Amino acid sequence: MSETRVALVTGGGTGIGAACCRALAAEGFRVVVHYRGHESAARDLAARLGDAFTVQADLSEPTQVERLVATVKERAGRLDVLVNNAGLNRNAPTPTMGLDDYDAVAGVTRGTWYLTKLVLRRLMLRQGGGRIINISSVVGHTGNQGQAPYTMAKAGLDALTKSLAQELAGRSILVNSVAPGFIATDMTESLPEAARDAILARIPLGRMGEPAEIADVVAFLATRGTYLNGTVVHVNGGLYGG
Ligand code: NAD
Repeated sequence: MSETRVALVTGGGTGIGAACCRALAAEGFRVVVHYRGHESAARDLAARLGDAFTVQADLSEPTQVERLVATVKERAGRLDVLVNNAGLNRNAPTPTMGLDDYDAVAGVTRGTWYLTKLVLRRLMLRQGGGRIINISSVVGHTGNQGQAPYTMAKAGLDALTKSLAQELAGRSILVNSVAPGFIATDMTESLPEAARDAILARIPLGRMGEPAEIADVVAFLATRGTYLNGTVVHVNGGLYGG
């Protein structure tokens, strides 16, 4: 019998991450639900998924990223799919945005790169294959007012996808991005009502997406999609075509 495949989803306790955990569990993965602060949500989810466990880490802290990878290695022994879903947004016009806001957003990007590096070095390259899926955003392509550092981070994440896809193709590791449009989660819940209405008016499908509609694509990239590599899959109800 073949070994159970393992998937790690960062920021897996909430929103899109939680939907990815559910979709990957449905595909038969043992799921590692990473979280930073949403401990009870992550634990409840893992308990419902059955073959799953949680690991806490602030990705902006390198020692915590190292502990996360060590824990996955110790408890699961392998990692077949890494979903870099954790992300942080700060909304403010550029003249009033603080350097601390920039650092908070960029800290997740740095942690995502470091986590990916360690996963490659300690797990995926040794196993001889895997899938990396980065959750970026439509605003990394279109820009968005009041979100300059966030749009920079997301554009950078798609560039990471393309670089890694070229670097790792010869090692049977496929790397792709999923770029959501506007999805109904805590992140969009926190937008001012006027901003939400303005966004809805621009979406041809006339509604925000559901986390499960992103997770569906992630599950496809994790298990099928064998000729997709270095691609950004836009999932946004027609808002932007790439
Ligand atoms: P969310 O706020 O529920 O999820 C973000 C997760 O990232 C949270 O679990 C949070 O704890 C985690 N996180 C943030 N900073 C972290 C850090 N330093 N260390 C570890 N974890 C950290 O919102 P969501 O909408 O589910 O977002 C999931 C991903 O999808 C994010 O990368 C977000 O940028 C992206 N996205 C969301 C939308 C949307 O409309 N909701 C659109 C495009 C992209």
